[in-house]
Amino acid sequence: MHYPDYGAEDEAPGTRFLLFPQSPFLDASAELELVEISAPPGTIGPGPSGPRMYTVDPVGKTTPYGAIVPGPNGPGMYLPPWNGFINPPPVPDEHGNFIHIAPSDPEFEAAHLFGSAHFTMDVWEGYFGRPIPWHFDATFDRLELSLLPSLDNAHIGWGFLETGGTHEHGDEYRPYSLNFDVVAHEIGHAIIYSIIGLPSDENASGEYYGFHESAADMVALLASLHFGSVVEALLENTSGNLYTFNRLNRFAELAGNAQIRMAANDKLLSQFARGWTSEHDLSEPLTGAMFDILIDVFHERLLARGLITPEIEDLSDQLEGTPDYSDVMQALFDERYARNPDGFRIALLEARDLMGSYLAEAWEMLEPDDLSYSHVEEALLAVDREISGGAFQRIIAGNFRMRDIGLAQVGPRLADPDGDSHAASVRTRAPNL
Ligand SMILES: [Zn+2]
Repeated sequence: MHYPDYGAEDEAPGTRFLLFPQSPFLDASAELELVEISAPPGTIGPGPSGPRMYTVDPVGKTTPYGAIVPGPNGPGMYLPPWNGFINPPPVPDEHGNFIHIAPSDPEFEAAHLFGSAHFTMDVWEGYFGRPIPWHFDATFDRLELSLLPSLDNAHIGWGFLETGGTHEHGDEYRPYSLNFDVVAHEIGHAIIYSIIGLPSDENASGEYYGFHESAADMVALLASLHFGSVVEALLENTSGNLYTFNRLNRFAELAGNAQIRMAANDKLLSQFARGWTSEHDLSEPLTGAMFDILIDVFHERLLARGLITPEIEDLSDQLEGTPDYSDVMQALFDERYARNPDGFRIALLEARDLMGSYLAEAWEMLEPDDLSYSHVEEALLAVDREISGGAFQRIIAGNFRMRDIGLAQVGPRLADPDGDSHAASVRTRAPNL
């Protein structure tokens, strides 16, 4: 396994944006972080708009994309582009960047939505090692990122990623465009549709839909670990004792990141043996397994770099389940982390990137029909044999078994999906072309 030099800053300059790594509505102390997207300065115009995607802030748009509307040839799906009036778009500064736009400016939402979507795609095209075409590229060259405040949702579909917001906090409108995790999650769905595609049968396996949600969450989680402030908060709050997430759920609040809190769950696939109703719930055992693999790989990198010792790991095994566990282990990690915080940071980035490239390669191997969580495990094991000669077989297989994956069978869908279900959403419908 080759790991990049995380100290190097030799990449070609990109276009700069200011993003909230964590929704400012979930965390009042959330601060903006400067990121560079892969597009060189000067290539992103007003909107923002670039070769792969563009943002519009429509005036007078009331119908969400994907809705079935009357048309000249009968009912059809309402699709981009928006050809009506638009609110004034953010324009780049003299250097081609968008960092002069403040959160209080009306153009900020559009800039944040564009920056979040593009940044997520950049991260994952890096893991795939190639451009990821849009699943709708037979119809549209570019993704339209659209703001629709009347929509209490965010959804991606044929040529669009549309974000609304919630009005449930009194007079305060909270747009999902400012929630990086939400935007990144939707881009995750687009990546899976492009790489794996749709099942041929409308009644696809529950695990296909659960996998989709899990993969979208992993896309968002690993993308958010590309914010320096997220990595730093995670390590500072835990002294790098991320193992604590596996064992003590209350520590998830230390993550300071909603995506990590969600991934650090203790759900088992056997809990769905009698059936399932929500693919979000059904996704949790798989996401939990992925998160535990990430932490175990991080642990291995700490050991490999001599930042923790095998004795610490042995002690962890011995004390597991005892009342002393968390205090003893935390004290050891506090001491070790204080010696070399930058080493811990690099080990975490190594684990993040190993996970990202493993997932990308594994997803390339999957087929949409009859997709199961066991197929995901088999693909990851195959990737690991190819890349590392099998260094992480025990970690991968062990964490899937811990979740009862490969042991339990998922039961049938128990009720019709509710309004929140993605399985029945516009996302999974392609227009009849
Ligand atoms: Zn989703």
